[in-house]
Amino acid sequence: MSQIDRNRLRQILIQEEERFAAIHPKSKALAERARRSLLAGVPMNWMVRWAGRFPVFVTEAKGAHFRCVDGHDYIDFCLGDTGAMTGHAPEAAMEAITDRIRHGVTFMLPTEDALWVGEELQRRFGLAYWQMALTATDANRFALRLARAVTGRPKILVFNWCYHGTVDESFITLENGRARPRPGNTGPQVDPTVTTKVIEWNDVPALEAALAPGDVAAVLAEPALTNIGIVHPQPGFHDALREITLRTGTLLIIDETHTICAGPGGYTRAYGLNPDMLTLGKPIAAGVPAAVYGLTEELAARVQAMSEYATADTGGIGGTLAGNALSLAAMRATLSKVLTEAAYHRMIALAERFTAGVQGAIRDFGLPWHVNQLGCRAEYWFCPDAPKNGGEAAAAVDGELERYMHLAALNRGILMTPFHNMALIAPQASEADVDHHSGVFRESVASLLGRE
Ligand code: PMP
Repeated sequence: MSQIDRNRLRQILIQEEERFAAIHPKSKALAERARRSLLAGVPMNWMVRWAGRFPVFVTEAKGAHFRCVDGHDYIDFCLGDTGAMTGHAPEAAMEAITDRIRHGVTFMLPTEDALWVGEELQRRFGLAYWQMALTATDANRFALRLARAVTGRPKILVFNWCYHGTVDESFITLENGRARPRPGNTGPQVDPTVTTKVIEWNDVPALEAALAPGDVAAVLAEPALTNIGIVHPQPGFHDALREITLRTGTLLIIDETHTICAGPGGYTRAYGLNPDMLTLGKPIAAGVPAAVYGLTEELAARVQAMSEYATADTGGIGGTLAGNALSLAAMRATLSKVLTEAAYHRMIALAERFTAGVQGAIRDFGLPWHVNQLGCRAEYWFCPDAPKNGGEAAAAVDGELERYMHLAALNRGILMTPFHNMALIAPQASEADVDHHSGVFRESVASLLGRE
C-alpha cells in the first residue's frame, strides 16, 4: 500500500498555499480589510477554518457553480454545507420566492403556504403534525424541550461525534470510553455530562445499558452519521434503536438535516424508519432560513394536552421570525419544484459517478483510503476500512492531508465541504463537473506520491 511522505506533503501544501494567495489577490485584500471590523476577520466563526489562509469572497452563484471576486468559477460541492443542496438560486423556485419578498415577508400570522407545506411534509415523512423554526439547531432544541416536557425525564442521549447544530446537550464526546465535554465547547451553561449520555454509533449493548434506567427523554440521532464522515448504520441497528427506545419509553428524534440527501423523504422514507419526531433544516427552503420539526399523532396529543393558552408565546419554543411567510413560500417552492423525485434521481447518479472516480484513483494508486456514499453525498476518508462509529472516524482525521486535498481542489476550481472530505451534488451539476473532480483528485494524489 502507498505511504504518505509527510515532508513531501508539507512541501506541496506550501506550494498550494502560495498558489492560492497568488490567484486570489482581491479576496486577500478583502480579508485584510475584514480583520479591522469583523471578529477574526469573518462574519461567522466557522469561516476561519477554510483551507486557504483566508476565505474566498463570493460574488454570485447559479446552480452548481459560483464565482469569486477574483473572477474564478468553481464547482460547488460544499453547497453551503447542505444549505444550498437545491443548487444556488434554483430557477424553479425563484419566482415564488421573489414574489413573496415583494408582498411581505413576516407577519406573525399564517399564510396558506403553511398548510401546503404541512400537508407535503406529512406525505413525505409520514409524521402527522408539523411546526416551523428558522434553523435546524432551533428545530432540534425545540424537539428536545418537547421531549423533556412530555416524558418528564431529564436526560438526552446522543452518539459520539454527532453534530446537530449549536445544541448545548450535544457538545459531548467519549474519551477512552468516558463522557466529557467536546473540545472547544464554548462557555457551556451546564456541563453536558449532566444533561446527556453519549455512546458510540452502532453500539446496541451500550444503547440498551444507557436507556435501561428510564431517565432519558429522547435519543437525538442522524440516521447515518454525516458530520464525522459518513458512517452508515450496521444492518439491524435501526431496528434495535427503535425497539429499545419504544420498550424504555424513550422518544426517538431523527435529524434529517443532512440525510435529506438520501431521497425526497430523507433517510426515514428511504429506509422505512418510524421516529417519534423528525427535524430538518438547511436546504428545505433553497437557502432561505427555514426548518421544520414533525411529531407523531400520539406525541402531538401529549404535547397538546399539556399546552397552556396563557404561556403559548413564551414557553421556550418558537421565535418571532419562525414560520414567516418568506420561509414558507420558499419551502413550498423548493418541495414542489426543486427537491423532486427527478432531481434526486439525477443527483444520486452523479454522486455514484463521483464515488467511482475517487474509488478508481484510490485503487490505482494503492492508497489505504476509502470512499462512502449516501444518496447525493459522498465522502472519502484516510483509512482503509469504513469506520463503524464516530470514535473510529475521528481517529482517522488527518488535518494536514485534508488541507492539502481541499486546497489543491480549490486552486483548480472545486469547492469541497470543509472540516471533512465531503461532496454534495446539486441537481444542476453535470457529468463534466464530476469528472473534473475525478481528474483533479487523481492529479493531487499523484503529486502527493511523487508519481506525476
Ligand atoms: N443537524 C445536523 C445533522 C447538522 O449537520 C447541522 C449543521 N451542520 C445542524 C443540525 C444545524 O444546522 P444549522 O447550523 O443550520 O442550525
